[in-house]
Amino acid sequence: MASLGIQCGSPVSRQEIVSWKRAIGRALAEASALTRNNRPRPGVRILMYHAVGSRLADDPYGISISLQGFRQQMEILALEQPTQVVSFDALQSASYFGQLHGQEKRLRVAVTFDDGYKDNLFAVAPIMIKLQIPFTVFVTSSFIQNGSSDYLSASELSELAALPGVTIGSHGATHRPLAKCDDATLRWELDESRHYLQEMIGKSVTALSYPHGSVDERVRDAARQAGYVLAGTSCFDINGASHDPLMLCRCEIVAQDSERVFRQKLNGNWDWKRWRASFPA
Ligand SMILES: [Zn+2]
Repeated sequence: MASLGIQCGSPVSRQEIVSWKRAIGRALAEASALTRNNRPRPGVRILMYHAVGSRLADDPYGISISLQGFRQQMEILALEQPTQVVSFDALQSASYFGQLHGQEKRLRVAVTFDDGYKDNLFAVAPIMIKLQIPFTVFVTSSFIQNGSSDYLSASELSELAALPGVTIGSHGATHRPLAKCDDATLRWELDESRHYLQEMIGKSVTALSYPHGSVDERVRDAARQAGYVLAGTSCFDINGASHDPLMLCRCEIVAQDSERVFRQKLNGNWDWKRWRASFPA
């Protein structure tokens, strides 16, 4: 009998579990690609990235992707039709969704980053400016304040915010799962991060991504009351005309994604992940 690579009685590592889940995921995506034609589902697909080209100390989920792979993905978005790249910030306009009911059926894609990694300024921004792709960086304010070498400093945040096509949003004050916070802590997380970021960059901050994808109706309503008008979740799906602007689905891209998988994710072959409940970041 062939070995499955996991011996009875030995502990299964987090890395092995991730590998098995990905193998199952790839099989489901290939099956989806076979059963549908390869045209993308129309709608607004929001890509979720974290770090690019950085070697992170603990990265079992592959949230830091290679610079070469990222550049290739952005060239696909910028240079190939029928994809249209839009700013996450622009999704405040209902027309980006409303036109989907009309004649226009092409896929729209917005690019976002979570956490506020330093490489978003030094590795990501040069590629995006060259290809004229707008992007949004959701920053956890305490990561900036704590001075970790992985994350943007205050001056780097200001520099990034001043670049063309860049929008800064909030990713909470301390990266807590917001659905687990009491009302007072929830309000503080939403207000503190927004006020800090606004002061640092000198611009209004009205976009949010929920840390760990942790959101429920109470959190969504608190975000609206705190002044946010757009928010991204970690629910993997495309957004159509009926989507709540404070509950926008996003599609995570990770280091293990080949060009083939990236194209499958754009086309909707990985949208079965909408049923998954937990998210790493
Ligand atoms: Zn995060």
